[in-house]
Amino acid sequence: MANPQHEGKKFLDSVHQFFDHAASFSRLDPGILAQIKTCNSVYKVSFPVEVDGRVEVYEGIRVQHSHHKLPSKGGIRFSMQVDEDEVKALATLMTFKCAVVDVPFGGAKGGVKINPRTSSVKTLEKVTRRYAAELIKKNLIGPGMDVPAPDYGTGSREMAWIADTYQALKYGETNALGCVTGKPVGQGGIRGRAEATGLGVFYGIREALGDADLMRKTGISGNTMEGKRIIVQGLGNVGYNAAYFCQQDGAIIIGIAEREGGIYNSDGIDVEAAFKHRSETGSILNFSNAKNFENSLELLEEDCDILIPAALENQIHAGNAGRIKAKIIAEGANGPVTRDAEKVLLSNDVIIIPDLYINAGGVTVSYFEWLKNLSNVRFGRMGKRAEEASHRRLVNAIESSSGKSLTTHERSLLIQGADEISLV
Ligand code: GLU
Repeated sequence: MANPQHEGKKFLDSVHQFFDHAASFSRLDPGILAQIKTCNSVYKVSFPVEVDGRVEVYEGIRVQHSHHKLPSKGGIRFSMQVDEDEVKALATLMTFKCAVVDVPFGGAKGGVKINPRTSSVKTLEKVTRRYAAELIKKNLIGPGMDVPAPDYGTGSREMAWIADTYQALKYGETNALGCVTGKPVGQGGIRGRAEATGLGVFYGIREALGDADLMRKTGISGNTMEGKRIIVQGLGNVGYNAAYFCQQDGAIIIGIAEREGGIYNSDGIDVEAAFKHRSETGSILNFSNAKNFENSLELLEEDCDILIPAALENQIHAGNAGRIKAKIIAEGANGPVTRDAEKVLLSNDVIIIPDLYINAGGVTVSYFEWLKNLSNVRFGRMGKRAEEASHRRLVNAIESSSGKSLTTHERSLLIQGADEISLV
């Protein structure tokens, strides 16, 4: 997503502002709060990889925000924008996210500075395996230590490489497959993990729409998804699945924003067809019957009921928050709304369903995958039934956590509530 606002430092500052605001309501000792705020460990590594006969040096990082519960948990991001502050901010959010959905992990995150779109599969495999080996040789990751997962720019393929590298270097270790989640189903993964984050976004929105008090504030009528006008930013794993499930339930996807631009059609866009169009042409633009938006960020400012930013952090900031017309923002991405933007949006009565809750479906199903790996059981031989079981457990987790989020739609209060949940 072309975004001049994307800077790790701004992101980390914003996360800290959320934290400090929440902390101001907390009964906890200031020393304990300082400990909760800080990242427990940061490991940076540079390693050489041969690409087309030349040696290139890659930079990787793994941040474990909190060891209050082990293992720590969080994805691995492949992007040229990866930097220490960004990964620290993301690791911090993971701690609170796990607490909100009662998943007993500390928070972590990793990243490698690499462009996954322009790198060959061979290079990606070499880089992933070497990065994993660097973490494994320092005992930084493992089923009881720290368990990575997919994030922006990575998926089940990269997780399979990590699991394989782990098993090779720790040959014979019990439960070794639990060293990483988001693996392909045939390699210790779990059905339902791939779509879990987007599906969780759908369940979370559906839950919010069913809350009459909350909806009264927005002026949105009808307590179902039927006819709700949605704009989604990002057609990656989270954005695609969120849009797809909302559309299946009757919502009208009126806009899709991507890195290269956006498309808009007030009558609705078929999500699967738009995804196919982008895969075939390399661009979301010029989709049939849709209006092009050369500047995709402008599309976020169009009138809609629900805006789902599902790409990167800092997309809605002090500079554009006042122009947002959506009545509900469902944070599919981690940190898409800055603290400064949140103040503007809340004063305009926009409901923000925070990332800590709405995108927690991924880590929730990761937890089921990890349990499956640890107990060496199969969750069901029949594919469809096993997938339905995953979805059922996910919907339970999202629905039972919603009170923590929806009664206080200001995320900082949610963090405040975390000390009552499972942070300390
Ligand atoms: N990367 C995802 C997130 O930000 C998933 C993390 C996980 O499954 O550990 O929540």
